[in-house]
Amino acid sequence: MVVILKEHAEEKKVDQLLGWLELMGVKASIIKGSHTTILGLVGDTSKIDIDSIRAVDIVENVTRVQEPYKNANRKFHPDNTVIDINGRKLGGDEFHVISGPCSVESEAQILEVARRVKAAGATMLRGGAFKPRTSPYAFQGLRAEGIEYLLEAKKETGMPIVTEIMSIAHLDLFNDVDVIQVGARNMQNFELLKELGKSKKPILLKRGLANTLEELLMSAEYIMAGGNPNVILCERGIRTFETFTRNTLDISAVPILKQKSHLPVVVDPSHATGITWLVEPLSKAAVVCGADGLIIEVHNNPAKALSDGPQSLTPDQFDEMMVPLRNLVAYTGRKMG
Ligand code: PEP
Ligand code: MN
Repeated sequence: MVVILKEHAEEKKVDQLLGWLELMGVKASIIKGSHTTILGLVGDTSKIDIDSIRAVDIVENVTRVQEPYKNANRKFHPDNTVIDINGRKLGGDEFHVISGPCSVESEAQILEVARRVKAAGATMLRGGAFKPRTSPYAFQGLRAEGIEYLLEAKKETGMPIVTEIMSIAHLDLFNDVDVIQVGARNMQNFELLKELGKSKKPILLKRGLANTLEELLMSAEYIMAGGNPNVILCERGIRTFETFTRNTLDISAVPILKQKSHLPVVVDPSHATGITWLVEPLSKAAVVCGADGLIIEVHNNPAKALSDGPQSLTPDQFDEMMVPLRNLVAYTGRKMG
């Protein structure tokens, strides 16, 4: 339930209302805007008589919220959340491209890719150090060493780094990481989400392979309910009966998430398609649909990549696709971050 107070409601009366709500067993999270105050009621609101709240003289309007997520809900937070990532502002009028290899493979590799993607206009560097692989015999990532190399690339290029966490046990290794990625396979690892809720670091939360948008928002809710408001939602394709692509990009997720939530939304066309040549058209679709950014895999030698080579762009291909993308971003009234 959302209670919108009248402009300039008297503080004493607001306190009285809060006390009364508490007696009825609900807690209010208070959102103070420049003109109005909004109370988001959390708890069992089913027994509350909506008209008795409407009757309070400082109340402008009351609406019931059907959605079970409160913190992530735009109804409670009408303005976009803009997340500051070392000065890069994601979620507002800047469009950000996060780019880099699927896996960090060596110091030389990540440095080379970092230099190239930065020159092409990427504003953040991605690279997996802990890799969730279907086969236990496949390359598992360089782990702590991979994060060290990412930090080297950050030092040299100034780009914030984005890398995936797979276990709470590794959290200390992520102290200098700018954005912690929760991969599709861990979207419902609730203990991990709760732990990340205790941090203030931006979390890039990827949609699970077979999860609904509401489930994605509920996972964001886990992080936010713990006290971390800095969640970035990521649509990376879902499993369907289609076999041409690795996954099916649910492009409608972008406007839906933007409507339902105030959190920034980024699209990952690499994992969504699994095919290099589809990355550019789907990146364009994401821009037009209102995404705040993209996360794209680029490898210096895709044929030799230790993971996800078939979906990785070469630095030259990335250069090429950034030209029309930049125009499209401008066309939608935003600027490249
Ligand atoms: C990745 O970003 O390399 C990755 C494993 O992504 P996802 O969790 O979306 O599969
Ligand atoms: Mn990958």
